[in-house]
Amino acid sequence: MSARKPYRQGTFPPAPDPLPVPVLDSHTHIDITLQEDGDGGPATVAEAVAAARAAGIDRLVQVGCDVESSRWGVEVAAQHPAVVATVALHPNDAPRVPDLDAALREIERLAAHPRVRGIGETGLDYFRTGEGDARKVQHESFRAHIAIAKRYGKTLVVHDRDAHDDILRVLDEEGAPDQVVMHCFSGDETFARECLDRGYLLSFAGTVTFGNAAHLRRAAAVTPLDGLLVETDAPFLTPTPYRGRPNASYLIPVTVRALADVTGHDLDALCAAVSANGDRAFGAWQ
Ligand SMILES: [Zn+2]
Repeated sequence: MSARKPYRQGTFPPAPDPLPVPVLDSHTHIDITLQEDGDGGPATVAEAVAAARAAGIDRLVQVGCDVESSRWGVEVAAQHPAVVATVALHPNDAPRVPDLDAALREIERLAAHPRVRGIGETGLDYFRTGEGDARKVQHESFRAHIAIAKRYGKTLVVHDRDAHDDILRVLDEEGAPDQVVMHCFSGDETFARECLDRGYLLSFAGTVTFGNAAHLRRAAAVTPLDGLLVETDAPFLTPTPYRGRPNASYLIPVTVRALADVTGHDLDALCAAVSANGDRAFGAWQ
């Protein structure tokens, strides 16, 4: 998701029961979450980290959407051992950047930082960007981010909205980095298998709990334990039954428990696998 204000309102949801085995939030926007004015949410990065830790989430991946949020993420990750960063221009922002080459050079400079563990979120968004020149720029930006990820040996964090076929085509054409995370996985079981065949990790968000998302639950059900990640995409995509209220990393247990139900995996085993997959994708945190 990009930095925009949708229809979220009201207070942050109550803290769920903590998970039995600590996991990570593989994709969160702490900067945007801190701007939420709902009561009960974190007011500082330290509070966001502490609330997550109390719920069994001991590692956060702070995801950049533009140069400014990418720089912010690197600073935060350098100060907080529980946070690592990814840096990128969001596919909806890339066509609006006045000087794309200069912005990409800055993303590349940030990519070298040891606390930067991924390049993202990048990818294609055909929902918010129509056909034409903007989409061409989006493709150019996606290909440039893939190249940066490969040059620096970082995990690629992919945003894919209504663009499944082209995401796979571009990755196949460019040659994918060693690690690819399909953030907020949005396909069905067929697309899941295509991604898994390529060795990509599928990161499930609160959307997997939505009533109209049977295709996501079928996708999760065919994903082996070593292919699963979990994320909030906070402050967006708050899981049922809190849909519409602001999201934060401490709510990961709601989605993890839903995934355990859908997949039939034992909760402890699921948490242990997600945790190990997170280390594989983003390296040791400390
Ligand atoms: Zn996001």
